[in-house]
Amino acid sequence: MLLHYDYIIIGTGAGGGTIAKVLADTGKSILILERGGFLPQEKENWDSGAVFQEERYHTKEVWKDKEGNDLHPGTGYWIGGNTKVYGAALFRLRERDFGELQHCAGISPSWPLKYDDFEKYYDQAEKLFDVHGKTGEDPTEPFRSEPLPFEGVADEPRIADVRTALKNYGLKPFDIPLGIKLNERNRVESLCIKCDTCDGFPCLLHAKADADINCIRPIMHDSNITLMIDAMVEKLITNEAGDQIRGVETVINGEKITFTAETIIVSCGAINSAALFLKSANEKHPNGLANKSDQVGRNFMKHQSAAMLAISFTENPTKFQKTIALTDFYFGDEDFGFPMGSIQLMGKSNRYMLTDDAPIFTPVKILSEMAQHSVDWWFTGEDLPDQENRVMWKDGKIHLNYTINNEEGFDRLIKKFSKILTELEDDIKFLPENINISKKIPLAGVAHQCGTLRFGTDPETSVLDTNCKTHEIDNLYVVDGSFFPSSGAVNPSLTIIANAIRVGEHLKSLI
Ligand SMILES: Cc1cc2nc3c(=O)[nH]c(=O)nc-3n(C[C@H](O)[C@H](O)[C@H](O)COP(=O)(O)OP(=O)(O)OC[C@H]3O[C@@H](n4cnc5c(N)ncnc54)[C@H](O)[C@@H]3O)c2cc1C
Ligand code: SF4
Repeated sequence: MLLHYDYIIIGTGAGGGTIAKVLADTGKSILILERGGFLPQEKENWDSGAVFQEERYHTKEVWKDKEGNDLHPGTGYWIGGNTKVYGAALFRLRERDFGELQHCAGISPSWPLKYDDFEKYYDQAEKLFDVHGKTGEDPTEPFRSEPLPFEGVADEPRIADVRTALKNYGLKPFDIPLGIKLNERNRVESLCIKCDTCDGFPCLLHAKADADINCIRPIMHDSNITLMIDAMVEKLITNEAGDQIRGVETVINGEKITFTAETIIVSCGAINSAALFLKSANEKHPNGLANKSDQVGRNFMKHQSAAMLAISFTENPTKFQKTIALTDFYFGDEDFGFPMGSIQLMGKSNRYMLTDDAPIFTPVKILSEMAQHSVDWWFTGEDLPDQENRVMWKDGKIHLNYTINNEEGFDRLIKKFSKILTELEDDIKFLPENINISKKIPLAGVAHQCGTLRFGTDPETSVLDTNCKTHEIDNLYVVDGSFFPSSGAVNPSLTIIANAIRVGEHLKSLI
């Protein structure tokens, strides 16, 4: 087994998978270390009970919350990382998200690079992840130099009616940009069958554009690529001066192996990357790697998220529901001059997904009826970076201190939209607001984790520089969601992917 490489990439999710794909054609030797394996292609992929109730694809790891209670995180360790189960909604952040933005509860800080710096990488990211969508309808859409690679995904009839009713009400619903392998003009060429088990599920047909299918599998047999699965990186070891990583301590089949490389790229997800930095503390880095600023693990964000079942008398037989989004109130409304967030349809709910939240002993028949008559919405709001919201490594465990903030705009958004739904045209109308069921996602829902190793120009207040290299260690880069200085209020993956392409291009320019 080779022990020395040009690049070591740790993690194969949105960030790690993408940068591996970008660097593969350099011909440089690349070792990819992934703690998980290939997610099995099996019947349970599309079994709601297995996925939502048994949490078959989530880690069994137990973390701690700030009160010391056990936390069972809704995250998984696979080739492809969390993109294996994501909803593939691939949004660009808005231009204003990159600047300082006044929220009701404080300031969302400015990024050291702006939308213009990311724009061409967003284009590339959309191509790499097969994004479908229609431009020109999203009222807060940032400028783009190229159209989306594929046309939008068509609504099913009930959703088409809802879209029309929302437009008639005066809102501007638009196509969710989606990374799926779909050709609606010629279904024979299409891998995707537009099923009802996509958002939150792995794709049994490998038709979802995820980091496994679109990035790792296309390169994993290249002669310069070595992919090691079930390879858990436990520690990064520096040289004596503390300014270079000299070893990547990895446990494979119970055996500890130390690999070395010219350049190390960490992409374990925002929480695990911060934990890796913290547990790699040594004499030169007593508080964790690259942590002179005491910023490692801090400013953890995860979005405010909520799901809402809007129930009506009309049945909703839709299978693939995730086609409409709204950003009409992203930056506020006539009554509230601060950002509120975004709204999108989510995967179609079914009785299994409702079981946890329904009063105990609610008959299965009632749950099924509710699901059959609901249209299901997902709300995303920005949580502001807070020094005290942080990842810590204690007693061999991840501790996640998090207190939700900036809730007013988000709560208003849910309330406002809930009311709008009751005011739509008669044949579309939903039942009164109090019958719609909305649920805020608790801390264990770390799907949109970001911000624990933020990038910036000032080493006193950031961990990474603008190329996502640590300020303190010359050959150590990070390309997962941890670089975000603020979270915006759209799903994070496309920005992670675009950034990984950007950092990959930078590394190529150094060759
Ligand atoms: C149910 C669900 C739905 C979602 N839907 C959307 C959506 O529609 N749109 C969107 O934009 N985002 C969505 N997300 C979020 C999206 O999946 C994440 O933002 C994205 O995957 C994060 O990319 P990442 O590279 O930061 O981390 P990850 O994708 O989590 O990748 C981290 C990788 O590192 C590996 N790893 C961790 N620690 C180690 C270690 N010590 N050694 C070796 N390997 C390690 C992990 O196994 C994993 O492969 C969703 C997430 C979930 C869970
Ligand atoms: S909708 Fe398409 S991409 Fe999603 S799980 Fe079903 S077949 Fe796969």
